[in-house]
Amino acid sequence: MIPGDGIGPEIVEAAQIVLDALGSPFVWDVRQAGMAAIQKVGDPLPPETLESIRRTKLALKGPLTTPIGGGFRSVNVRLREEFGLYANLRPVRTMIPGQRYDNIDLVLIRENLEGLYIAFEHYVPIGNDPHAVAIASGVNTKAGAYRIIKFAFEYALRHGRKKVTVVHKANVLKVLTGLFLEAGREVAKEYKGRIEMNDRIVDACAMQLVLDPWQFDVIVTTNLFGDILSDLMAGLVGGLGLAPGANISESAAMFEAVHGSAPDIAGKGIANPVSLLLSAGLMLEHVGRREGAQRLRAAIDRAINQDNTRTRDLGGSASTREFAEAIARRL
Ligand code: NAD
Repeated sequence: MIPGDGIGPEIVEAAQIVLDALGSPFVWDVRQAGMAAIQKVGDPLPPETLESIRRTKLALKGPLTTPIGGGFRSVNVRLREEFGLYANLRPVRTMIPGQRYDNIDLVLIRENLEGLYIAFEHYVPIGNDPHAVAIASGVNTKAGAYRIIKFAFEYALRHGRKKVTVVHKANVLKVLTGLFLEAGREVAKEYKGRIEMNDRIVDACAMQLVLDPWQFDVIVTTNLFGDILSDLMAGLVGGLGLAPGANISESAAMFEAVHGSAPDIAGKGIANPVSLLLSAGLMLEHVGRREGAQRLRAAIDRAINQDNTRTRDLGGSASTREFAEAIARRL
């Protein structure tokens, strides 16, 4: 358990209250990362934290403040690299009915290690302008594409989903994302008759997600497109405060709130813990406790919609703790 920075410790405390009420199977080994760890030991990702994740293969993580300057690399990126967390899982589901979009139930699966986000980029100077030209290269491997697309089809099978949409830009980036589409078509053959596959160009997909999101089921895509579309999809259900996230590989799985450390409201006890709670639900599913995850989601739903307990960002006045206690009562 990594409390993290800003509102992290507040929402982590809320998660502990709720998971205790659920009778969760987890025993917490609390470790530091981010600014909290820099202040304590001078390292945003101390070896003890890495060692703990290596041993348990699981982490529930609050948001981390990325220090600006000081030469520290993003802890989130380091964690992804360290454990090869190639699959980013972002389900979005309507929690509060009667908003702009109702009955949303979609899953975005994003390749987490390759593509343009390897940040292989440089400037080319011309004359006395050192920044005259900027060049970035993307790298997609066949093995990486197969692995994530297979992950998406397997996820669809396990969760009773019907369709996987492969999102790409193969009409322009014919090599970089053409390879991804090719892999999608290959993998789909193995699931013929069980899971339907189609493909969309990323720009058309963005428009369709806004016009008619219900046509989608599971979406699988490359790193950059996935980053953008997953936030768009969170917007369909009311924003990042209600969307969980997970980063998964065979060597570890890390579950996290998708929002940041919200320094503007840190310490005020008003943060919404739902994103982290839903992420804890994904962690329960990951260890085979699907029934516990369903109970958790149902309790959050009832606390919000029947008891009308909401934090300020959801239009209510409950504190983080009151919200957590309302969910715990439902459990
Ligand atoms: P942010 O998500 O922290 O905040 C954006 C806005 O949303 C703020 O007004 C904030 O008060 C509100 N908000 C966010 N989470 C909320 C919650 N649970 N309940 C109620 N309101 C909430 O984004 P930011 O301000 O751009 O980033 C702040 C810091 O977080 C930065 O250092 C950034 O690098 C870091 N960050 C970390 C992660 C991560 O660890 N996964 C993700 C995004 C940003």
